[in-house]
Amino acid sequence: MKTIKYIALSTLLLTASSCGNDWLNIEPSTQVQTESAIQILSDIEFTLNGIYSSMQDAYSYSGRMTYYGDVTGDDVQANGSTKRTGSYYLFKFTKDNAPSTHWSTSYSIIQNCNMILTHIDNMDAKDKEAYRDDLKGQALTLRALALFDLTRIFGYPYMKDNGASLGVPIVKDLSTINSKPTRSTVADCYKEVISDLTTAIPLLSEKFVKGKINKWASMTLLSRVYLYKGANAEALATAEEAIKGAKKNKYELWTNEEYATAWGNDSEAGKQGEVLFEIVNLTVDGPGKESMGYLCSSSGYSDMALTTSFYKLLNEDPKDVRNKAYKLYKSKDGKTVNAYINKYQPQGNENIADANIPVLRLSELYLNAAEAAVKLDDNTNAVNYLDPIVKRANPAKTVVGQTITLNQVLTERRKELYGEGHRMFDALRNNQRIERKDVSGTGLTIKHLTMADEAKSFDWNYYKVVFPIPKKEMDVNTNLIQNPGY
Ligand code: CA
Repeated sequence: MKTIKYIALSTLLLTASSCGNDWLNIEPSTQVQTESAIQILSDIEFTLNGIYSSMQDAYSYSGRMTYYGDVTGDDVQANGSTKRTGSYYLFKFTKDNAPSTHWSTSYSIIQNCNMILTHIDNMDAKDKEAYRDDLKGQALTLRALALFDLTRIFGYPYMKDNGASLGVPIVKDLSTINSKPTRSTVADCYKEVISDLTTAIPLLSEKFVKGKINKWASMTLLSRVYLYKGANAEALATAEEAIKGAKKNKYELWTNEEYATAWGNDSEAGKQGEVLFEIVNLTVDGPGKESMGYLCSSSGYSDMALTTSFYKLLNEDPKDVRNKAYKLYKSKDGKTVNAYINKYQPQGNENIADANIPVLRLSELYLNAAEAAVKLDDNTNAVNYLDPIVKRANPAKTVVGQTITLNQVLTERRKELYGEGHRMFDALRNNQRIERKDVSGTGLTIKHLTMADEAKSFDWNYYKVVFPIPKKEMDVNTNLIQNPGY
């Protein structure tokens, strides 16, 4: 239904420029609507639904945007060099052949959010102020999410140089064909992301609405952004408030018993579980075979799998329930044994390609809080927030009475969030190395593929940990500076 609505919207409305905007590389289905189109609040909601719909694309959050941070790390690898994730995993992209979609899908989201944000304050809400505020909060959060993801893909980690290196252009007005924005620093991008989120949070609804951003989702993203920035006191305070608020509004960590299958739950108000924001894919508007569901499944493309080293780490404790979030696959001849991520489970009778994509989970909030607390030498809170995650994984375990270390929290984070797009970013923002080494004795047959030495072991100094600015964009916008090394 969402797709149909969105197509109706884009055909209904004239586009700003018939030939589109080259530097934005906006696809026809997400082209800019004329300014006169947005007149009443229902039009705003219509446009917002179109943005959510565009995020279902496999080049956006249903696929590439999600697996990027996993296959560039050490816990998940491509299951062959010609797989869709192969060139990401092998760091084979150059400035000439790297995909342009990380850029274009994100700027398309930003452009459509700007469309809403340039109008919404001037609209007469007529006793519907809360509705208007909520729509504005959603648009601000989605713009922040897109800018944050652009910044972490194209810019070096904030902690490397306090944000002095180049991030991406900050676009707040409606772009035209003549727009040739320059790249802002990573620090300025973070400032903008934080400004949008802190403006959004008081405006947003506290209630669950399926597939939509609410206050707790927005705060989860903000706590993540603060953590990436090393603003640990703010990260802790934001995560704490969000955990309290989310629980008051009936969000709960999945239980140990629920964990293996909760990924396939079709959440509803009152039974929303722990997913604070998800991309809802349906069979009628599914992202197709390039989606996480299909890529991760042995009945699909078997595109990526757990590395032997990560499998060994998870199996330190065979009773850890997170061993149920992958599926062991054995070929009939017994020659192939792989562990495939099983977090992208379809809802009801859907196809595997239509699995929803959890983007922000309550578990992350606990881990954000625990990590920030460790960094603040606040062991009480580190224990408070790490323990529910540890206990849920194996009820026989606890960290109560322990002095929590940063490595302990980060290891727990790896175990909890694998396959959800975090690992490379989490390691690098903490100035840790990614080491891609096989270990023996796991029973798995997968091995790291042949790759350049520089891709086997690297830290935030490796030039390829930031993506090249797409050639398409460089060609049309002479103000853009390419990332160093490319
Ligand atoms: Ca679904």
